[in-house]
Amino acid sequence: MQELINKLNQLEKHSAILEPSEKQREHYQKELHKYSSQFIREIDEHPSFIEGHGKTDALKFEGSSKSFSELLSLYHEEVTLKGINPASGGHLGYIPGGGIYTASLADYLACVTNEYAGMYYGSPGAVTIENDLIEWMKGVFNFPKSAIGNLTSGGSIANLIALTAARDHHQIKNELIHKSVIYVSEQVHHCIHKALRIIGLSEVIIRHIDLDENSRIQANFLEELVKTDLQNNLNPFMVIASAGTTDTGAIDPLKTIGEIAEKHKLWYHIDGAYGGFFILVDDKKNDFDGIEMADSLVIDPHKSLFLPYGLGAVLVKNKEAVFTSHHYTANYMQDALSDYSIINPADVSPELTKHFRGLRLWIPLQLHGIEPFKASLEEKIVLTHYFRALLKDIGFKLGPEPDLSVSYFWFPSEEIDKNEFNKKLLEFIHEDGSVFLSSTIINSQFVIRMAILAFRTKKNTIDKGIQMITECLQKTKAYYNM
Ligand SMILES: *Cc1c(COP(=O)(O)O)cnc(C)c1O
Repeated sequence: MQELINKLNQLEKHSAILEPSEKQREHYQKELHKYSSQFIREIDEHPSFIEGHGKTDALKFEGSSKSFSELLSLYHEEVTLKGINPASGGHLGYIPGGGIYTASLADYLACVTNEYAGMYYGSPGAVTIENDLIEWMKGVFNFPKSAIGNLTSGGSIANLIALTAARDHHQIKNELIHKSVIYVSEQVHHCIHKALRIIGLSEVIIRHIDLDENSRIQANFLEELVKTDLQNNLNPFMVIASAGTTDTGAIDPLKTIGEIAEKHKLWYHIDGAYGGFFILVDDKKNDFDGIEMADSLVIDPHKSLFLPYGLGAVLVKNKEAVFTSHHYTANYMQDALSDYSIINPADVSPELTKHFRGLRLWIPLQLHGIEPFKASLEEKIVLTHYFRALLKDIGFKLGPEPDLSVSYFWFPSEEIDKNEFNKKLLEFIHEDGSVFLSSTIINSQFVIRMAILAFRTKKNTIDKGIQMITECLQKTKAYYNM
């Protein structure tokens, strides 16, 4: 016995540092505050993109203890000053969001209190917060009260949960897999294909529906494809539309697709990870007509609600379909099974223990209300028009008028191959880095892509971007002796 007590005393002493003193905590807070304040203060002075780095060993854990301020400077040098700065308003590549500050306070609080948001029994308060946010989203997208949902780490897992429900509801397994058909746009996000592989549906038949000149699905082709497949004894079971494609921000004709899905009893999935919350903008609301017809819908608050990375969401109308794969009762959880009327996040997701991620949306919404989010979303739409108008003035060709805030452009170089010229131009843009743009291929043509969604992107940012593009265009012309 004494031996055990001695051992325990010794171990307690050695692990005591895991509970820092109040003074120590104050010190950490001060350092953190100093660093994050400086980061935000100087955010516009740093480039949005710094390219080209070799590997570093500086970040390796070598068992030694470093001071917090040493770690912060290491973080600054090796993390924040490399690659894309996703917190910067100048991030106009991929799908940015920014990361509003008050969400970081929520993450801090969630970590300190370490609430368990998987089961109502464990933390009725935390689960209520998450479920109330799902209720709120159901209201935003006009989903019925009976729908369920989950807050995920992002759009990919949200899509995975939705597609799993579709698979289980239509019982796509065994011999049926090879005969089953899913209808998608070529512009569908690649995480859909990943999800299908993960859930054992890599061998289903994927049909690409023809798109119009704005990269939207042409619904009449969908109906034709379904009819032909039915005639050929195949098993059409799902159609996937996007409410804002990643490449060009196109919103598919949601209502018409919904009607076809209903007629042919297809599971209707809508991926609104990028664009979904633009439904909050009055002028855009109509474009989302029919979104309420979806059997499952994905939205991504870490995109169109500007949260830091780590929050997606899925809504599904058919609870049983979701529960088929995700609901589980194990003996060691028997105490947690008291109330059947409350949805436990763990029954709607592959995750059991997870970050209490609802708090990072709940605190900002409760603090600020929805109006500043709406204003910021509308600002992104107006900035997109503004950017396009300026680009046109300096001689660029533009892709079609976008539905939302993603668009593309290219320089119509006559003497030099357009693809080659614009690739070179983007190289100069990346080298400069004051504003970050990405590229894509549209109709076999290389184009420069702009995605305006970060909450810190302002008129100033666009003016800076235009100045940079003008300079890079001169450099590219000089490069080709034009
Ligand atoms: C970003 C995106 C996804 C993937 O979401 P993550 O949050 O990155 O996992 C899915 N679909 C669309 C349309 C997206 O823009």
